[in-house]
Amino acid sequence: MFVDSHCHIDGAEYDDDREDVIARARDAGVTTMLNVGTGDPHSGTFERAVALAEKHPEIYCAIGVHPHDAKLFNDAAERRLIDLVRQSSRIVAWGEIGLDYHYDHSPRDVQRDVFRRQLRIGRELNLPIVIHSREADDDTIAILHEELSGYSRAGVLHCFGGTLQMALSAIDLGFLVSFAGNLTFKKAEDLRDIARQLPLDRLLIETDCPYLTPVPFRGKRNEPARVVETAKCLADLRAVTGTEIGRVTTANFEKLFLTHKAGEAPAPPA
Ligand SMILES: [Zn+2]
Ligand SMILES: [Zn+2]
Repeated sequence: MFVDSHCHIDGAEYDDDREDVIARARDAGVTTMLNVGTGDPHSGTFERAVALAEKHPEIYCAIGVHPHDAKLFNDAAERRLIDLVRQSSRIVAWGEIGLDYHYDHSPRDVQRDVFRRQLRIGRELNLPIVIHSREADDDTIAILHEELSGYSRAGVLHCFGGTLQMALSAIDLGFLVSFAGNLTFKKAEDLRDIARQLPLDRLLIETDCPYLTPVPFRGKRNEPARVVETAKCLADLRAVTGTEIGRVTTANFEKLFLTHKAGEAPAPPA
């Protein structure tokens, strides 16, 4: 049993064969997926992501405005997304939100403001937060410290690619760390070193599909069934079985995302 803790199968890349992709995941033992909505919050993309989760009992949903689209965030977007959380019990996380200084699709000061604003929303809604951080580790950790200290649900650093120090700081704040298919890449020796050292009860696995297709399928479109390759890689690093990685990461996922429902008791003040 495996969980793909971060996928994007609501996107157009899967319009021709989405049901086959979901069936192949099931056949591979991937019993649960967290589909993360992204894109322009005014376009209906988040509504589509929620509809997919409403239709499939094995798919949950996260919504939040990606740092690429931070420049599109405003009061109307905020109201629209909060309404969705109130309407659908399938939404179990706020995100992905964060900072991306690699692409800089939104100005950095706007990214930081919108990140803070959404951390406060997620916290008010008592949802765990899915964090995207690329080439912005110091700012990400500083903002998480300022906004989420004392928040028991915290969340996950998805598609982890930072330093050991960043992973440990996030774990201190109550976060899980999720590894994607890039863990299997030939050049990823530093990342594998970090994956060897983190506590197993803080780890998740994901595909981030359609991106980051793991070895030996690189060059093809990724899909949730491939999370098994990342599980195998992590199992080798930790000298345990793939089954054990599946069991532990599934338990970690359920504990973080599925033990509360949105809108239940608000988080206590920091
Ligand atoms: Zn991301
Ligand atoms: Zn993503």
